[in-house]
Amino acid sequence: MTRCDVLIVGAGAAGLFCAGVAAQRGLHVVLLDHFPKVAEKIRISGGGRSNFTNKDIDPRSPHTHFLGENPAFARSALSRYTAQDFMALVKKHSIGFHEKHKGQLFCDRSAQDLIDMLLRECDAGAMGGSVTRWQPCELKQLQFSDSTHGGYEAQTSQGAVSAQAVVVATGGLSIPKIGATDLGYRLAKQFGIRVVDTRPALVPLTFSADEWQPFVPMAGLSLPVSISTGHAKKATRFDEDLLFTHRGLSGPAVLQISSYWQAKSEIRLNLLPDLDVAQTLVSAKQSSKKNLANTLSAWLPARMADFWTARQPQWQRSLPDTPDKALSQLADSLQNWSLTPSGTEGYAKAEVTAGGVDTRDLSQQTMESKQPGLYFIGEVVDITGWLGGYNFQWAWASAHACAQALAARLKPL
Ligand SMILES: Cc1cc2nc3c(=O)[nH]c(=O)nc-3n(C[C@H](O)[C@H](O)[C@H](O)COP(=O)(O)OP(=O)(O)OC[C@H]3O[C@@H](n4cnc5c(N)ncnc54)[C@H](O)[C@@H]3O)c2cc1C
Repeated sequence: MTRCDVLIVGAGAAGLFCAGVAAQRGLHVVLLDHFPKVAEKIRISGGGRSNFTNKDIDPRSPHTHFLGENPAFARSALSRYTAQDFMALVKKHSIGFHEKHKGQLFCDRSAQDLIDMLLRECDAGAMGGSVTRWQPCELKQLQFSDSTHGGYEAQTSQGAVSAQAVVVATGGLSIPKIGATDLGYRLAKQFGIRVVDTRPALVPLTFSADEWQPFVPMAGLSLPVSISTGHAKKATRFDEDLLFTHRGLSGPAVLQISSYWQAKSEIRLNLLPDLDVAQTLVSAKQSSKKNLANTLSAWLPARMADFWTARQPQWQRSLPDTPDKALSQLADSLQNWSLTPSGTEGYAKAEVTAGGVDTRDLSQQTMESKQPGLYFIGEVVDITGWLGGYNFQWAWASAHACAQALAARLKPL
């Protein structure tokens, strides 16, 4: 039987970071993961450059950028380990990074630099602390055990291990082909901890084949839009890029709104958010003889302008020959486009999983669950960030809060 202070299940963003911080505070950690490669999600994140945090996070108002039954739960951890703290760590390891868009920070070179950094942090154990990584290794069984004086015994494919505390960092359900499983939720349920229903989030939206057929020629087109969902006063809105796909809509605008979209409800799109289209077309009528497609191509991709005006015979005329009413109908079709997705691309394409371990059964200071010595960190918890580095910052912050609490409990100074 291997003995350790802490068994961490899941060597992704949160598990690796928690292991390193705990080892540097003198704890002996066993970190296991069933997938052969370490931190695959970090490697593929941000198009291979990992959008590892967002410098605009306001830890005092987590509900601005995070979803869940109770986003305020994240306040404590996010305030105690901030985006600036993680940036300082990245700088300490001489990893170049840059801001791309709306506070989003990416590695200059490769997400692999971040994985190497986390592994180096795991190797930097101090005061007798260390990280032993078992990978690939299956967790077969986990039990609370009186024989370990209030600790846990686990059976794994690399043998038995006993630990004073167990941290579940198994992430969400998205992208099963790189290792995602429901183990974290099953462990929660095994110990009587509640789990909020999960659903794919930050995910492309799809439409029935019949409904989408006319829009297939637009696949590959991208443009800045305003997108919203929900009832007027409580509507959620994003100004981001939209991407047409063969099955529906994607791009940052749609990924963001997907986290708020309720099944069977509609989304609303303004394809020209910075223009009063009706007014502009009526005025242009005085001076331009262009056809409508050409006129629109000043503001929209030409392929889109051609496609859109071809939808109605009355939009295929020259500007002076088009009645004002038809112009305002065209404007309305572009600026108030309502459509009802039939579903999403699911966990195979989702960046994250919304829902998860119910924060009512966790401590916001330590991430310990109501089952003593059992902790949950990262995406497995019912805290879901916006696109843009928020999910990683939650992984780092919750991992840090947990590691600090473990050290205070198991190795008090
Ligand atoms: C394509 C893509 C791009 C993304 N880009 C970004 C981005 O740029 N910025 C951002 O903030 N977020 C991004 N995310 C989200 C981000 O990757 C996750 O929110 C983050 O990795 C969560 O960290 P975690 O440690 O909780 O889970 P993960 O990093 O997913 O780690 C969980 C670990 O648990 C292991 N595990 C699962 N089941 C078991 C089991 N049964 N036994 C043992 N081990 C198990 C997995 O193998 C994995 O290593 C992206 C996600 C995807 C899918």
